[in-house]
Formats: sequence, C-alpha cells, structure tokens
Amino acid sequence: MVVNLSKAYSLLSDWVGELRDTEVQGDRMRFRRNLERIGEVTAFEISKQLEYVEKEIQTPLGISNCKALKHQPVLATILRAGLPLHQGLLNYFDRADNAFISAYRKHNKDGTFEISLDYISCPELENRVVIVSDPMLASGSSMVKTIQFLREEGHPSHIHVVTAIACTVGIEYVHRSEPQVTIWCGAIDDELTAKGYIVPGLGDAGDLAFGTKVQM
Ligand code: URA
Repeated sequence: MVVNLSKAYSLLSDWVGELRDTEVQGDRMRFRRNLERIGEVTAFEISKQLEYVEKEIQTPLGISNCKALKHQPVLATILRAGLPLHQGLLNYFDRADNAFISAYRKHNKDGTFEISLDYISCPELENRVVIVSDPMLASGSSMVKTIQFLREEGHPSHIHVVTAIACTVGIEYVHRSEPQVTIWCGAIDDELTAKGYIVPGLGDAGDLAFGTKVQM
C-alpha cells in the first residue's frame, strides 16, 4: 500500500514545497526541521494503525480510562540523510528502540554506482512493527537492501517505509520485492535520472541537511 500524504491538502504540502525550493534550501536548519516535521505528522498517521490497550490512569480527581500504545515500534533509518526524518518519528514514538544502517552509493569511474551497506546497529525485531525512514525513495535499491537486511535480523510483524519524496519506479521496485510493506510519502515524482536523482525532486537531501561530502 502507498499513502501519499499530500493528497489531502495540509501544511505538509507547504513543508515539501520548502524542501524543494532553491531559495529556501540554503537554510540548512529549516531543511532539517521540515524533514523532522514530516516525520512527526507521519508518525501520527502511522499511530492510527497501531494497537492500543485500555489503561486506568489516576488523576488528582479520580480515575480515567485511557488508551495507551501497546508496543512502541522500532525506528530504523538510513544514514546520513535519514536522520532528520528519523528524529521527527522519534519525537512522537519517544520510547522507541532504534536501528541505524549505512547504505551509500559507491561510485564507479564510469558514472554507475552500487549500493553498499555498512554500519548496522539493530535492536530485537521479532514480531515488532518496524518503521524505516529515508527522505528520498529513488530507485528503491537501498531501501530494499535495508529491508532484506532487517529481515535477516528478525521477523517484523509489519514494515512501514517513510519518505519525503518517492519516485514511481522506487515505489514499484519496493513493492515488487516487498509486497507487504506500507509506503508513506509526502509527494510522488515520476522521473529518475541515470545518476539516481529524482526529478523534480529536491537535489541531494544529505548534502542539503548536513553539507557536501567528498565523493567515495
Ligand atoms: N537521494 C537524494 O538525496 N536525492 C535524490 O534525488 C535521490 C536520492
């Protein structure tokens, strides 16, 4: 299933617009904060699909019957670009365990690249809801590799993918490889360049959030 959160007009469309806008992109703090805000509202939307338990809460004046989240999800992100989106999810799922995966493009001299998975830190995943965040779902290959890795570590009860901008081919590739996954996105773009950039997209999310890197 794919949920495009900008289908219904909301502030989220504004934040996605600012992420894309070259006149706003110079403000790195705003770029990160907009990703964080998208993570926050997506966490709220996902929370509607989780399980809750009845809980009696003692107030100063009596007892209130409340509903409490039964289990916190596991939040997994792909370094480094995923960090602000992950922070937004963590602001809402504030007791969640976390997983960190480094999936980066190893560039070849001929302009092609392969996805390399490196550093992994992962909690217990057995029968838990896992939310994997990455701001740009481009070809989908780093997301699929990441999910495959997570499945080797345990058997999540469900996997949600959270992304700010998803490309049609990336959505299709993830769903071909991982049909059960739910993809949440702030916008869907149709084009992908040979270098793996989404068009119109926003550019390089990691560089815009954290500064340019030396190409490896
Ligand atoms: N990663 C990015 O940062 N931007 C894209 O357009 C695609 C992948």
